Amino acid sequence: MAKRVAVIGSGVSGLTSTKCCLDEGLQPTCFERSDDIGGLWRFKEKVEEGRASIYQSVFTNSSKEMSCFSDFPMPEHFPNFLHNTRFLEYLKLYAKHFDLLKYIKFKTTVISVRKCQDFSTTGQWIVVTESDGKQESTMFDAVMVCMGHHIESFIPMQSFPGIEKFKGQYFHSREYKSPEGFQGKTVVVIGMGNSASDIAVELCQRAKRVFISTRGGSWVMSRVYDDGYPWDTVFHTRFSNLIRSILPWPLLKRVYEQKMNQWFNHENYGLVPQNRALMKEPVFNDDLPSRILCGSVVVKPIVKEFTETAAIFEDGTMEDNVDVVIFATGYSFSFPFLEQSVIKVENNEVALYKQVFPPTLEKPTLAVIGLIQPLGPIMPNAELQARWATRVFKGLSALPCESTMMTDIVKRKKKRIEWFGTSRSQTLQTDHIEYLDELAEGSDARPRILPLLLKDPKLALTIYFGPCSPFQFRLTGPGKWDGARNAILTQKARIIKPTRTRVVRNSSNNSLVSYLLKIFGLLALFAAVFVSLQQS
Ligand code: FAD
Ligand code: NAP
Repeated sequence: MAKRVAVIGSGVSGLTSTKCCLDEGLQPTCFERSDDIGGLWRFKEKVEEGRASIYQSVFTNSSKEMSCFSDFPMPEHFPNFLHNTRFLEYLKLYAKHFDLLKYIKFKTTVISVRKCQDFSTTGQWIVVTESDGKQESTMFDAVMVCMGHHIESFIPMQSFPGIEKFKGQYFHSREYKSPEGFQGKTVVVIGMGNSASDIAVELCQRAKRVFISTRGGSWVMSRVYDDGYPWDTVFHTRFSNLIRSILPWPLLKRVYEQKMNQWFNHENYGLVPQNRALMKEPVFNDDLPSRILCGSVVVKPIVKEFTETAAIFEDGTMEDNVDVVIFATGYSFSFPFLEQSVIKVENNEVALYKQVFPPTLEKPTLAVIGLIQPLGPIMPNAELQARWATRVFKGLSALPCESTMMTDIVKRKKKRIEWFGTSRSQTLQTDHIEYLDELAEGSDARPRILPLLLKDPKLALTIYFGPCSPFQFRLTGPGKWDGARNAILTQKARIIKPTRTRVVRNSSNNSLVSYLLKIFGLLALFAAVFVSLQQS
């Protein structure tokens, strides 16, 4: 009989987990506490308990070719960055195409997941759910936790003395929905992440004054990158990744900083990160620098203290008559239905093998999917996590022993701190291509460029120099998708299609430069392979 798997949540992670279970011949039951799919991407006017909440204007900051699932490209007419309603539409198309809805139990909340008595031999779990006030217990052979990590607001009250005296309104960015009602108000937004920047930029068109108050600053990038391509399709290529991995650290830091300052000088805008060397998640905001230039958003250091009416900043300056303070200070996460012996959250961190498996379980039958913040889109990462996890459940892929997993967890944490720092907003941060490749290794889906170069040079070169799009992980191995090659070779056309809505003849031809770059890139690839062979 097929193994039964409980999938908790029907957002990006839950949908793809349900589909991966089906691909592996497992029998999924997906529990969703709300009344529809989509998770965070389903905007509602009112905040719902236990589900992520977004504002009406959210657009993706990862582009469509990079943010789709690996065997289901987005419709070519979709814009490159999607409004939340469009992204939800894509998730609905995915669920319909793979016929996933019939596996989902809506308005059903998972309230407890406990090991069965004979867990050490069976690896089974008792899942207790609640629906319409009634509780039900069901036994499952495996569990996939796909509940997201943007549910619990984090407001660091202790860092903001006087906030309890403040007579205006204050709330977390999770509560923010639209600029309605902010006319004529003076607003202080705390934080310098994507939420803070989006909200400040949106509010400054209605409010009287908007201040954005940051302790650490941030690099701000445009969604529009070199040659006008979406940033992630240029930043996340295997070629650029190789260059980043072979450049000496001091040189890499310098190149990175220079690139970040190419658009505008972050120091002059008061935004420069305290620790410039970190690859911390940047802010993607095309309007912020222009709003600062127009004086509609004013950057301030962190608030030292609030009075009844004012914010006093670290540099001693004060803004009086503040009406609203919005804490865009990020999120905490927890697993209310699990015992701490299974997963323990400490300082917003968890010890999971490759960010997926608790290393101390007697049987690898519980996986956490989507508990990551990649330096790229989460969708292909969650999908590969789920592909790997379902193969582990089936016994087709094995986990190493506990001590090896613990060593890997420690190593990964060290690297994460070196690259992204210690801020609590970075505790789930992962890189992108390296992590995808690592997961693909577990599900036997990693593309092999060198052999491919001999067999199918056009495809190999596109994989190496082009966007590291999810389709690359469907070319070989279990789960191979016949449409993957074509999806890779046509992705550039799909990127251009929604923008080139007025076609002009005689477009410029820079193929020679691109050809030379490719030769240089290939030489770099061969050099890297040669060096790694020498070292091994
Ligand atoms: P969610 O989308 O949060 O879904 C979790 C689901 O689990 C929900 O439906 C919830 O109701 C359900 N659930 C929770 N607890 C239970 C329970 N006990 N029982 C039953 N059901 C439960 N990432 C990107 O890659 N690109 C972007 O452009 C991007 N933009 C973002 C914008 C904002 C404003 C935010 C906050 C995040 C953004 N992210 C982005 C990250 C985002 O987390 C992912 O895009 C994605 O939504 C994560 O999907 P998920 O399924 O893991 O979690
Ligand atoms: P976030 O990225 O965690 O940022 C939190 C911000 O609050 C950081 O600037 C952090 O500063 C600051 N902060 C935290 N504690 C603080 C303290 N004690 N004192 C002062 N400042 C403090 O949260 P977010 O902006 O809500 O984003 C959450 C996730 O959603 C991110 O992955 C983001 O990319 C995503 N998102 C995407 C979009 C989009 O696609 N358009 C929009 C919004 C959010 P430090 O950095 O100094 O710690």
